[in-house]
Amino acid sequence: MATATEFRTQMYVDGEWRDADSGKTLAVINPADESTIAEVAYGGRAEADRAIAAAARAFPAWRAQSVYERSKVLKRTAELMRERADTIARTLTREQGKPLPEAKGEVLHAADTFEWFAEEGKRAYGRIIPPANVAKRHYAIKHPVGIVGTITPWNFPAALPSRKIAPALAVGCTVVSRPAEQTPLTLILMFECLADAGLPAGVANLVMGPPRPFADALFEHPAVRKISFTGSTEVGKELIRRSADGVKRMSLELGGHAPLIVFPDADVAQVAQAAVIGKFRNNGQVCIAPSRFYVHEKIAKDFTEAAVELTKKLKLGNGLEEGVQVGPMFEARALDKTSALVEDARSHGAKILTGGGRSSRFDKGYWFEPTVIREVNGAMKLMTQEPFAPVMPLLDFSKIDDVIAAANDTPYGLAAYVFTNDLTVATRMAEGLEAGIIGINDPVPATPQCPFGGMKESGLGRELGSEGLDAYLETKYVSVGLRN
Ligand code: NAD
Repeated sequence: MATATEFRTQMYVDGEWRDADSGKTLAVINPADESTIAEVAYGGRAEADRAIAAAARAFPAWRAQSVYERSKVLKRTAELMRERADTIARTLTREQGKPLPEAKGEVLHAADTFEWFAEEGKRAYGRIIPPANVAKRHYAIKHPVGIVGTITPWNFPAALPSRKIAPALAVGCTVVSRPAEQTPLTLILMFECLADAGLPAGVANLVMGPPRPFADALFEHPAVRKISFTGSTEVGKELIRRSADGVKRMSLELGGHAPLIVFPDADVAQVAQAAVIGKFRNNGQVCIAPSRFYVHEKIAKDFTEAAVELTKKLKLGNGLEEGVQVGPMFEARALDKTSALVEDARSHGAKILTGGGRSSRFDKGYWFEPTVIREVNGAMKLMTQEPFAPVMPLLDFSKIDDVIAAANDTPYGLAAYVFTNDLTVATRMAEGLEAGIIGINDPVPATPQCPFGGMKESGLGRELGSEGLDAYLETKYVSVGLRN
């Protein structure tokens, strides 16, 4: 049972921890048992405006600091996150549901992201461009974009904000962040690390509250120059439309519907293991989760048997318990949506090989049995909508061109996975697939030093890697005319 003082529950604005002006709070629910684990401050437009004003005041001094000084604060933040990783991870599991080892891995990934951008910030190089006119000199220099607003979802409450906050701060931007309403506690703990690392007041601000007033404040305030959003394609499109009036810079990490393709030369047992890990990580509630499995017809039977066997063995339970591999789904809505998708597939002829419904083993919480299905076709919603669910639909293929066409037949283009040891096949697939992230014999490709993001309706821009630093920089061209 949570005690009143177990969690910090306030917003962080202008270097101070604060309640909402109204005193309003919102309950944070543990999806494993539906208990309330904390009541957090729940602000609105006034708090968002105050945070933007603080970020605007802090910007000139933060930007003027040496990048080496900014880097020290970010590195110290990374160290503190590692020291506190157990506490942060337990909190993450309690508010989000994923098993503790996954939560710990996520927190350490977020710490690595802070450390990596602390270094990469030092490499925001410009260019010297040879002039056509010998009496001129031309330079392209990098300039921080300004005040940045960040909006992130509930599925990775540590990793996703770190991909925005760390590069923005590294190059001298100041930040106003809003976590998902349902998972604020992890980001509050990360802000404690930033504050304890010596971040000056106002440089990074944390506001909790409903999405609309926060977004209104970002779009309407002229000082906010950039909005970095991770979430659904539907909301992303709305934000693109809203960005027009103020010509706000946008980075958008949106939905996905990743194909995973297995060629006949692959080791069936190993790939089945990788596929099951990739699919059921965070219960399939991962933007880059494989959600359509194309298996070559020569190995389809063996692969299916191996995948079903492994899926049946997955241990479902409260993520804090030892040995648990799959936690609850995040909320009742996700459970309802998954049930509806599976029912729709069943009504269109799908065969359920394991799972297929809500788990009856738990009195409370949002539980769905890890599910594998066959006899899948394009009429099923599962194949056209982003499922975000613990469901593995299996399809056969025989020809490489056909599987490339099927894999690309979606408005999404975030991730794709290929399993083969044939270099020619791997190269053709890497070049032919329309996805921003391609894992070849790698079911978990995200890492701080490599670019992450989507093609087509899966997003705009990239996070992580040097591209993820560029997202917070403007290019300024300076031309100098010399005296005779
Ligand atoms: P969502 O779009 O409903 O919400 C995302 C965030 O935006 C939340 O904080 C929410 O409160 C806020 N929000 C909602 N409506 C808003 C509005 N009108 N204006 C401003 N903010 C608004 O998405 P979700 O269901 O919480 O998250 C799951 C989605 O996120 C999936 O589509 C998933 O693929 C995507 N996602 C993408 C990536 C990526 O890197 N591409 C990573 C994780 C999740």
